[in-house]
Amino acid sequence: MRFCKKCGGLMVPKKSGGKNVLLCEMCGETEEADSSGYTLVRKVEEKAEVVVIENEPSTLPTTRAKCTKCGNDKAYWWMRQTRSADEPSTRFYRCTKCGNTWREYA
Ligand SMILES: [Zn+2]
Ligand SMILES: [Zn+2]
Repeated sequence: MRFCKKCGGLMVPKKSGGKNVLLCEMCGETEEADSSGYTLVRKVEEKAEVVVIENEPSTLPTTRAKCTKCGNDKAYWWMRQTRSADEPSTRFYRCTKCGNTWREYA
């Protein structure tokens, strides 16, 4: 995770002119992202998004998918389009029975 040198706010990865940069959401400060720092921030961000979506599962469609945890074959699912077009979109599943959440690359 990266923090802003100016204000101490959390830096989030953004695309700017084809380059990966880190942007401070507090003050707008940008910093060129080195590959290792970029990956680390991205991972944390994706994890947080899963948690947010989990709070409102009733609005999600369901599909037949096998839960590896409890063996249930029904799961909520949703897609998440990644920011860069060269990366595949990710499909998330959440077991309707035990709440186990997992992901699958399309
Ligand atoms: Zn800042
Ligand atoms: Zn389950």
